[in-house]
Amino acid sequence: MSENCIFCKIANGEIPSQFVYESKNTVVFNDINPQAPTHLLVVPKAHVESLRELSDPALMAELLESVKAAAEKLGIKDYRTVINTGRGAGQEVFHLHIHVMAGREFGWPAG
Ligand code: AMP
Ligand code: ZN
Repeated sequence: MSENCIFCKIANGEIPSQFVYESKNTVVFNDINPQAPTHLLVVPKAHVESLRELSDPALMAELLESVKAAAEKLGIKDYRTVINTGRGAGQEVFHLHIHVMAGREFGWPAG
């Protein structure tokens, strides 16, 4: 738990929110400013600043398992996953999260 970290507060229930999916070490909730009809955030319960600081292979696996489980639960087959790592890549919340977006067309290459 990191002081003043919004995703720590959400993941640990300090800010009440509805989880789309929850596993032992991860939670999945809706992005507050969705960039697609479905826009989920898959987040470790423990504070990890970014992918750079993530070193536990079991937690890496669990995060991807939660992406798949949440998508399956919502009946989503096609989705875009994004991890912004570092300010220069667009990271604004410094608690690791995987964006899962669905329900519209996505361009490639990504802009
Ligand atoms: P990033 O730019 O990759 O760090 O993404 C941060 C994301 O967190 C953005 O898509 C925000 O809309 C989202 N976000 C910020 N605060 C909240 C919140 N309180 N609840 C849900 N999503 C949030
Ligand atoms: Zn945190």
